[in-house]
Amino acid sequence: MIEVVRDRSVTGGMGLDVDEAGWERRSAVRIVPPARPRKLAKVPFVELADGRLQGVVSSGSDISRVYVSSISAGSHAYNCRTNNNRPCGGLRGLPCKHLRALADEAVLQYGLERVARYLKVDVDESGDLVSALGGSPEPSDAAVVFSRFLRHLSYLELPGTTVPVPELHWFPAAGAVR
Ligand SMILES: [Zn+2]
Repeated sequence: MIEVVRDRSVTGGMGLDVDEAGWERRSAVRIVPPARPRKLAKVPFVELADGRLQGVVSSGSDISRVYVSSISAGSHAYNCRTNNNRPCGGLRGLPCKHLRALADEAVLQYGLERVARYLKVDVDESGDLVSALGGSPEPSDAAVVFSRFLRHLSYLELPGTTVPVPELHWFPAAGAVR
């Protein structure tokens, strides 16, 4: 299953970050939003669906691994698991870097206001969405989110068409993101 993530056509031809320290450094000092291909490499899938902000985040150190991260609207309960449905080692009572990457990407894709409204969270002027969350970790099944990701990927292999594909609404190139 993981082959699709390693496919460079999916990651925008950029490959995946393999330097853990570099990944965190770039993440921490990112001021100018990176080009779309690099964002796809790090967070190939993000959506507001099923009452959650959820998505798939590439591992910073292991190109054969991705994390499935989610934050529930309202309760702000969060979870992060590997694509093999194992708990994320970075989840120790606080949101891990994958959840932060997911939130950052959602804000880039949907805008802070829309994401905050969906999650029902009050974000102060710092704009730090994750720090404004009051939830705690909750168990949830990564398989559900991951299967949605794989289904979305299957659309990337559809032949070109001018007819809107509703399932691709999350993808900015479809032009349907408001
Ligand atoms: Zn994580």
